[in-house]
This record gives sequence, structure tokens and C-alpha cells, in this order.
Amino acid sequence: MRIQVKGQIAEALGDEMTRVMWDWIVEQLVEPYVDMKRETFDLGLPHRDATGDQVTKDFAEATKRHLVGVKCATITPNADRMTEYKLTKMWKSPNATIRGALDGTIFREPITVANIKPFIPGWTSPIVIGRHAYGEIYAGQEIRIPGAGTAEIVFTPAGGGEPIRKTLHTFDGPGVMMGTFNTDASIRSFAEASVTYALAVGRPLWFAAKDTISQTYHARFRSIFDEVVATRKTELESRKITYSYFLIDDAAARLPKSNGGFVLALMNFDGDVWSDLVASAFGSLGLMTSVLVSPSGAMEFEAAHGTVTAHYRKHQRGETTSTNSVASIFAWSGALRQRGKLDGNTELSSFADRLEASTIRAIIEGAMTADLVPLAATKPERSLSTLEFIQAVASRLQA
Ligand code: NAP
Ligand code: MG
Repeated sequence: MRIQVKGQIAEALGDEMTRVMWDWIVEQLVEPYVDMKRETFDLGLPHRDATGDQVTKDFAEATKRHLVGVKCATITPNADRMTEYKLTKMWKSPNATIRGALDGTIFREPITVANIKPFIPGWTSPIVIGRHAYGEIYAGQEIRIPGAGTAEIVFTPAGGGEPIRKTLHTFDGPGVMMGTFNTDASIRSFAEASVTYALAVGRPLWFAAKDTISQTYHARFRSIFDEVVATRKTELESRKITYSYFLIDDAAARLPKSNGGFVLALMNFDGDVWSDLVASAFGSLGLMTSVLVSPSGAMEFEAAHGTVTAHYRKHQRGETTSTNSVASIFAWSGALRQRGKLDGNTELSSFADRLEASTIRAIIEGAMTADLVPLAATKPERSLSTLEFIQAVASRLQA
């Protein structure tokens, strides 16, 4: 008997090697166990091109409607892809489109496995990095200063009135300057999403910035976080989820000494850098999941890695590949668990737990793809192919 599911999930198909794995995951690990309607959108590059990228917007809307989405990795076109796929336009990154539509914050979470050793051995629980994906240097303005002169920052009120003007520096020779900004609305939705995510995963929330030095800009982030945490106090207390603010250098010093097990929310640049640091310190990209959380409560689950083009080229030549499907499997389990939670369907939530446990057990028992072998405490005799690994999970799930 398959598990009956009332609610739906918005599903996005993707490109290349991840698309190949996606079909195997759905066929072998999801469909045999779960009777659920999925609203499926083909975000593969040819279909994005054929629909003028409308399909990406439709997927984002369906995710908002169902509150749960699951997405396969997709190609972000560049000049080479224009030729390869004979595209009519260089479509923008689907993830950026979806993030914009959901006003979301991205949380990257490593999957920890007992016999796969992170480079920092004490990190026994995941460290989740939540990156505010708006503003700062990504939306700043910069000037190369040619020589002596005065650099100012100015704000001109829309409704008239006196501009606010500050002298940044009086240059006596060449240099550089930069202006960055953020908005209360975006900071607030970042803080809301961080609280929502910490509640969803049941882990403490940290936010780190440098408000001792940046007493207006960073301090604004800190006080908006305080306000949001205060309005959601009851929810947080009832789930025993704590919130802490740290100076970012203090957080940096604590990180390697910690055992993990918390959500660290960071401003855009900090999150960009630290998410890569944490991902590589934990091991393989194939073990890194990513969740987009909208302040509306909608969540979209995916693997953090791309379409693994290098492996797909081998697959196209008919060669055997050994691509890690764990992050894609966890995108599915994450989406199913969230669906279960929203529907009060405990059978579905515990299936999601079983799917994850079967995946982790396979690795612990020595069934793993090639990327994990160098990190394994006990090395298996051989690594498995992409399909063999999915079958190894399937056989444990059946048992
Ligand atoms: P990638 O797909 O993440 O792969 C980069 C390399 O990392 C691979 O060649 C492979 O290394 C390793 N790797 C990544 N995932 C792996 C897995 N599951 N199992 C084993 N090894 C894995 O990044 P990319 O090659 O730079 O990008 C390919 C395409 O993906 C691009 O078109 C890009 O636009 C797109 N992309 C999409 C997303 C998304 O949809 N979320 C994110 C990033 C990139 P080895 O070759 O050394 O084995
Ligand atoms: Mg980065």
C-alpha cells in the first residue's frame, strides 16, 4: 500500500546528469511508496527556451500555491550554451527568477554521515548557512578615484526636503570608493525566513555581523532580527529554539571549535564566502542540500550542486558515471517531510525519515560514489556507479 497524500508538490525537472539521476530517484525511491499528485514543470533548457522562460515563472507560482517545491539542477545559459542549445535568448538563472518570485533566502545544509569525515573532525552535526541574497556589493556602485578630491555619500528624499550628506574621505591622491545599501523590507524577510528555517529544522539560530564597527548599517540588521525574533517569541519558545547574535569574528572563532548543529544567518557577502568554506570543509558537493525559504512559508528543496556537466558528457558517450545522488535524494525527502508536516501526514514524514536513513545506511555500509571514497573512514573495495548507488538505497528502503 502506497502512502496516500492529499497535498501536492511542485516539481521542476532540470538538465544533464542531474536530470538523468532525477528520473531514477523518482522511479525507484518515491513513486513505489508515495501516492501523490505532482505538478511537474520541465525546466530543462530546451523547454525554457520554447516557452520564453514562462515555465520557470509557472513553477515558482506553483511552489507558492502548494507551499512545497522540489527542483532538479538546471543550466544557467552562457555564450557556449547559446550555441550548444541554439537558444533564442540568454535566459537568466532559473534560481534567480525563483528566488525573486518567492522573495526567498537560501539555506545550504550539509548531510553528515558517520563514516564520511569532514575536514574539521569535530563537525558532527550540520552547520547550515543562511545567506541573505540581496544588496551589499552585489548591488553596489563603485568609483575609481583618479586623484585628489572629496568623496561623499548623499541621500535625497523623494518628497523634497534636505538631502542627507556625509563626507566619506578627502583624497589627496588616487584610490577607490564604494556605496552599498539594503532595505528594511528585504532584511525583515531575511530574518523571517531564518526564524522559519530554524523552526523547521529544530536548531538554534545564530546571526552574525559587525555592529560594533558598522553602528548604523549592520546595527539595522541586528535590530530587525531582534524585532522579528520578538514577534515570534511564542513559536520559538514552544519549540525551545534559541536565537543568538554574535560579532562575526567571534562567530568565526567559535565555528571550528563547535560541533555544528545550528543555523548561521549571514549578510550577503559573508554568506557567499562562508557557504563555500563550510561546504568544502564538510566534504563533497554531492552532500550539500539547499532550501529556499519564502517569508510566505513556501519552501523549495534542491541539491546545492549544478548539473554536473563533466559527468553528463561521459554519460552521453555511453561511459559509466559515478555521480553522487545524495543531495538530490535529500531534496525529495525534504520536500516530502515538509508536505507531511503541512498536511499532518505523519506516515509521509516518517517515510521521508526512512528514505534519508536508507541513504545514510547505504554509505555507512560502504555503498558510495567515487567522490566520497577519499573522505571515507573505511574505504570500500570499489565505488558504485550512479545507478548502482540509487539501487543500493532502494534495496535498503525495501527492507
Ligand atoms: P557542478 O555541476 O556543481 O559540478 C562541478 C564539479 O563538482 C563536477 O564536475 C564534479 O567534479 C563535482 N560535483 C558536483 N556535484 C557532484 C555530484 N553530485 N557528484 C559528484 N561530483 C559532483 O558545477 P558546474 O560544472 O560548474 O556547472 C554545471 C552546470 O550547472 C552549469 O550549466 C551551471 O549553470 C549549472 N548550475 C546549476 C545550479 C542549480 O541549478 N542550482 C547550481 C550550480 C550550477 P568532478 O568532475 O571532479 O567529478
Ligand atoms: Mg560563493
